[in-house]
Amino acid sequence: MAKLSSFLAPLDDATPSMTERTTLWAGINSGTSHVAGIEKLAKLVVDDFTALGMDHQAHPPAKVQNLNEEGVLLDVPCGGVHHFSLRPNAKKRLVLVGHLDTVFPADHPFQKVEKRSDGTLHGPGCADMKGGICVMLEAIRTFEQSPFAAQIGIDVILNSDEETGSYASSATMVDIAKRADAGFVFEPALPDGTLAGARAGSGHYNFVVRGRSAHAGRSFHDGRNAIVGAAKLITAINGLNGQRDNTTLNIGIINGGTATNVVPDLTIVRMNIRGLSSDDLIWADKHIRDIVTNGNFGPDIEVELHGGIHRPVKEMAGGTEQLFELVRQAGDLIDQKIAWAATGGCCDGNNLAAAGLPNVDTMGVRGAYIHSAEEYMVIESFVERARLATLSMLMLASGDVPWPDRLDVSE
Ligand SMILES: [Zn+2]
Repeated sequence: MAKLSSFLAPLDDATPSMTERTTLWAGINSGTSHVAGIEKLAKLVVDDFTALGMDHQAHPPAKVQNLNEEGVLLDVPCGGVHHFSLRPNAKKRLVLVGHLDTVFPADHPFQKVEKRSDGTLHGPGCADMKGGICVMLEAIRTFEQSPFAAQIGIDVILNSDEETGSYASSATMVDIAKRADAGFVFEPALPDGTLAGARAGSGHYNFVVRGRSAHAGRSFHDGRNAIVGAAKLITAINGLNGQRDNTTLNIGIINGGTATNVVPDLTIVRMNIRGLSSDDLIWADKHIRDIVTNGNFGPDIEVELHGGIHRPVKEMAGGTEQLFELVRQAGDLIDQKIAWAATGGCCDGNNLAAAGLPNVDTMGVRGAYIHSAEEYMVIESFVERARLATLSMLMLASGDVPWPDRLDVSE
């Protein structure tokens, strides 16, 4: 098996071109809501992937709506899903997943990309995950030069709304994942190279609390205060924290009221739940719904619930565990120590697992402080991680190691 690593030679001097490409990509703002920016970036990325001989198909985003501050559901603007494929008739298929969007909107102060003397690249999306898409691109380029490429098919999925939960892209992703055998997602690894193992699942909930408006001086008693009603709702839900291990409920955003002399008739509350098992999520979901149905929020106060469990738990077991073991072996062959740790974060790896696809979801660059203006990636990890991904692909394609079992997702 040691011989497979000889096919990694084309990566030896790839650092400058990978740095340049990531710098170019990260210099284009692609905040999830900045569709024009995402399209501009997608144009470059599509050129790079099709240059490898991949077929390209652009899928429009699914319709996604969100509540605005007036409690009205509005369409959310969103970029599309790009699907690239090689050898569509191959029996064994690998899915490589990345996202084009970042958490930084077009008017965010963090826009500049900067290479620093300590060997890091700072910039929006450098680690999460334009650097990762670059690793994916070079891994495919290198893999395609090997004699094993003909053995397997490759699908690449690049979506544009991962940072807001992949609502517009998960159906396309799940569709492709169902027909595949193993997956790699190129989210960043920790600075020391540690991968994310098991992942918590999550759910998002929005509540519209409606009361009745009135002048606070002249007719206070005719009013029904939606903020006070929301406060009762929040207190009840927050009271669930601590009742069950590994299960958390976070009230994240509240909007309501217009002036201090007006009884507010509307409040919007937004929250997130996390759990380490699907039973944890189901428990939290059930209790939230019970509170909405049976809670006492005051006379004439109505609570409307939107949302639910969104990203299922990703367990470190079965085929996913087998695939991690394969990546660890690949690391051993090229002197990289690969470890993993459970995380409370979620990503598209959760959705792929829910579709039965064993996957390792932190195959991207090493980096830190993602989602902040301190985000950086370690430049030497470009080649290092491309070697790891390529070798893992070679091991699967060569038949030297068994493919992981698909996950049992029948409930
Ligand atoms: Zn990401």
